[in-house]
Amino acid sequence: MEKLAADRKDQVFDNKFCQKLAEEFNRSVGRAGSKALQATQVQGWFLNKFPASATKPTCVPTASQEKTSASEINVSVSEKRSAASEEKLFPLDTETKDMIPELEDLEFEAKSTKDFAWYDIALFLAHRRNRAGEVEVRVRFEGFGADEDEWVNVKKFIRQRSIPLESSQCKSVVEGDLVLCFREGNEEALHFDAHVLEVQRKQHDIRGCRCVFLVEYDHDQSQERVSLRRLSRRPKYF
Ligand SMILES: [Zn+2]
Repeated sequence: MEKLAADRKDQVFDNKFCQKLAEEFNRSVGRAGSKALQATQVQGWFLNKFPASATKPTCVPTASQEKTSASEINVSVSEKRSAASEEKLFPLDTETKDMIPELEDLEFEAKSTKDFAWYDIALFLAHRRNRAGEVEVRVRFEGFGADEDEWVNVKKFIRQRSIPLESSQCKSVVEGDLVLCFREGNEEALHFDAHVLEVQRKQHDIRGCRCVFLVEYDHDQSQERVSLRRLSRRPKYF
């Protein structure tokens, strides 16, 4: 019988787990060629995501500890961030960012196994190993509730967030690039991986980029002509 890892947050901060997670990220396709991610960065990032860290109890006011007890770990970060007492709930933010300069840029997205679309991750809830010994994490998607939580394979389906493109960056998008493309369907609009097949350069005007990008979506090979506003770039292309 498969034994699930406990979802206690103090175990999420475990050094070995963070080291493993960093290694998984560094091996993943999305990070190829990027600067290697350190375990301390992963750990710091988790500390940032889980407001009342068990590893630094003295930093956390008693009232906050009660609010963020293990029983309430399912409350998403986005909900907490909207609270009026935000500063008190996040005593580690400033300190952690000072220690690790890159940390504030460390945001992740995950690919849903349900629709193959990528979603921003609001919260890491738990971790475990699958039968192949690979690390999986349970994630809360930004803007979604607990009933949409999913177990996601870290190596294959979690990566640093894609970055929306500015008009001035359109020249950096070339044929063959992997992009995250916002596809508007009849019922829903989702972000999918796509590759750029062709770029029609146009004169920019006061509204910015008017170039047209022909993309092919990876998951169903459908093609579409889109504007720059619909595209986000993978961090490794910067
Ligand atoms: Zn352009």
